[in-house]
Amino acid sequence: MADELNPFHIVQGQLRLAVDNLDLGDSVYNLLKDPMRVIEVAVPVRMDDGRLETYIGYRAQHTDATGPTKGGIRFHPSVSIDEVKGLSMWMTFKTAVMGLPYGGAKGGVICDPQQMSERELEELSRGYIRRLAPMMGPEVDIPAPDVNTSPQIMGWMLDEFDRVRGQHLPGFITGKPLVLGGSEGRTSATGRGVVFTILDAARRIGLDVRGATAAIQGFGNVGSYTAHYLHQAGVRVVAVEDVRGGAYNPAGLDVPKLLKHVARTRTVHGFADSAEINTQDLFGLDVDILVPAALENQIDEANARLVKAKIIAEAANGPTTPEGDHLLASRGVFIIPDILCNAGGVTVSYFEWVQNTMGYYWPPQEVDRKLKAMMTKAFDTVYKMKQAHQVSMREAAYLVAVHRVAEAAEARGWVHRKRAPEIPSDQLQAMATPVPEVAAVPPTSIGH
Ligand code: NAD
Repeated sequence: MADELNPFHIVQGQLRLAVDNLDLGDSVYNLLKDPMRVIEVAVPVRMDDGRLETYIGYRAQHTDATGPTKGGIRFHPSVSIDEVKGLSMWMTFKTAVMGLPYGGAKGGVICDPQQMSERELEELSRGYIRRLAPMMGPEVDIPAPDVNTSPQIMGWMLDEFDRVRGQHLPGFITGKPLVLGGSEGRTSATGRGVVFTILDAARRIGLDVRGATAAIQGFGNVGSYTAHYLHQAGVRVVAVEDVRGGAYNPAGLDVPKLLKHVARTRTVHGFADSAEINTQDLFGLDVDILVPAALENQIDEANARLVKAKIIAEAANGPTTPEGDHLLASRGVFIIPDILCNAGGVTVSYFEWVQNTMGYYWPPQEVDRKLKAMMTKAFDTVYKMKQAHQVSMREAAYLVAVHRVAEAAEARGWVHRKRAPEIPSDQLQAMATPVPEVAAVPPTSIGH
């Protein structure tokens, strides 16, 4: 992987910038520049044709300064150790920006789930958890879904963990099926949160979303729910794309019909009333809102030049390269950074874990209300930081996040900061009371 596209090095650069801007000193940078623990596992799987295949997987636990580590598990052929390390650091900063009581982690297995049967996937999921079980748990490290991993896979993983421990521990994993203690609203949470941040950004730049246009790259969990909620908000979704093809209609795609088409065919390709479109053309469309919701490094310097959108909502993790980011920022595009934009998923995962701890479940409206309150508050905190320091939304999000993690590390006696950073007192207060909305409101009903 080219160095400038290496997620681990990209996030180290983002950390360095925030540490320098906050004048926190090298000890904070050195403490946070590497995950505290990285585990590599080899998982044997008996394939349907009788062969024994061994899959390589990783789990990176970045820091537990602010709580147990938390982050998804990805099944994909391009998983690498540096990708997992970089993603674990992004999780730390994402949970910190939201004020959640977690540190960051990420897991991945190098595999191609499209080429595997359901039974093979189950064996791989269970084997991966057996290997990692000694280093995981509801108060240690809590996984969740990511690319190509579903609630069903979370269900298998929970079952395996319960067997290893000989206990029921539903808070071990989030994003699991409702019947196993999943939360209402978890599957849709990331897309829901993406749209909350888009609505906030539109208000700040004076864009009326009713009749505004959007294009979305990636139409899995995050992209499809983003399309659904944008459509509900009155935005015209004109183009979508997944790994198998694209669909474009300048008058607006019929999103409910498109979702049915995808449920049937598992791709947006071949959708009626639309033309084919490729990634380059989608990024260059004259739309108001562009949503990369696939993988890292999709918007680079070359295609950033084509972008005409006013808002880029980073639904994926790390979708913009540093060079692409620089170019877009210089052109005044309002970028909602990934660690804020897609934080709805981990926020509802947190709600799920809280509900598991209580054994008491909230109805969908309550989850939605709490998610909206927390996303709006986080957006506001980052926006105020942006205004106060005259920086981009991305830099502002890192200032909020790194400040919080450094404060926790200092309170634990791990580091001594050079001096207190200059952050307005109202923002410090907002960061010091991470979840008042959730902690203060008791659950109103038993969901299931
Ligand atoms: P998913 O597997 O459900 O969907 C991924 C989508 O991207 C699929 O439609 C796939 O076809 C498409 N895709 C992959 N490569 C592509 C390419 N080169 N061009 C166009 N489309 C391509 O995954 P997801 O859970 O929706 O995750 C998407 C992104 O959002 C990832 O970066 C992930 O880390 C991030 N994310 C996910 C969650 C979550 O709760 N699932 C939370 C936060 C962030």
